[in-house]
Amino acid sequence: MNAAKIDLHLHLDGSLYLPWAWKTAVKRGVVETECTFEEYYSRFHRRNFKTREEGMKRFDFPVDVMQTKEDLADAAYYLVQTLSIQQMFYAEIRFAPQQHTKCGLTQREAVLAVCDGLERAKQDFPDIDTGLLCCLMHKGENAHVNEKENFETVEVVRELLSDRVLGLDLAGYENTGDFLLYAPLFEKAHSYGIPYTIHAGEMGDGAHVMDALAMKANRIGHGINCIQNPEWLHAVVESQIPLELCPTSNTRYELGYAALPVRQLLDAGARITLNTDNMSFGRTSLAHEYDMMRSVGISQKELWQCAWNAADAAFCSEARKERLRERLREEQNKKTE
Ligand SMILES: [Zn+2]
Repeated sequence: MNAAKIDLHLHLDGSLYLPWAWKTAVKRGVVETECTFEEYYSRFHRRNFKTREEGMKRFDFPVDVMQTKEDLADAAYYLVQTLSIQQMFYAEIRFAPQQHTKCGLTQREAVLAVCDGLERAKQDFPDIDTGLLCCLMHKGENAHVNEKENFETVEVVRELLSDRVLGLDLAGYENTGDFLLYAPLFEKAHSYGIPYTIHAGEMGDGAHVMDALAMKANRIGHGINCIQNPEWLHAVVESQIPLELCPTSNTRYELGYAALPVRQLLDAGARITLNTDNMSFGRTSLAHEYDMMRSVGISQKELWQCAWNAADAAFCSEARKERLRERLREEQNKKTE
């Protein structure tokens, strides 16, 4: 009945199942024992950040409840449960393993713990297929600050690349230093045959989208600021690189969804997918993202195209993509009956 079935851009830390996160936060001492669910919920949804940098720090809050194998696995499990209730077909969930080593886990152990949670969820919710992307982080003043940790993530993904661990991402505050300082990480990933997406042109300069293209990204996270320059937009359209748009995340509240350049990107011929980014922070779901786009004039046909683009752009095997296409076809036929 609806096209909102495939999410390629979904952060584990921004999409926690909050009743579980609250209980875990209390148990682990992340919040005081008397913190009620309502208080936790409102802290999770705090919006009054003065700067983008301060806004990025809000991710420390959910990350602190995922510092043990058990909690990482449970977080992944409950996210898939939520997606299953939403009748989703497929999701690529991402997280940054280097953020989960505060209590002594190695990055490798953190990745395997999330894989365990996804595996457990697969048994209980077989209708949804999932994969994992590991994020490298923009952190500190420039790429050298955590270069060692970022290279470690690349090596861990190289070792664990499978039908579960599907690829890499670059996340964090994209205006941290020179974007191209991250190129050596992706040269290495490319040489290993690891697929990757890069957050670029979201909150930062649209020129970063050009940098991500130069770094041979397979997809671009957000990328909407490529419209700042006709040449950049032209390059995105020419390359047909899939853009992972996340409307709620990119909407400034005072402007609303209509201010997003989605129509402009579609009319220019860009290859668009629609995603949630951070379901809990954004209080959203993929169905809501599609609904919001419909409400600003994106046609049903165009929305279906976004879903088909997502199936094509997924990092899973061709056989799994074919299964997704089959299911989309069935869903689309239901709609027209
Ligand atoms: Zn993101």
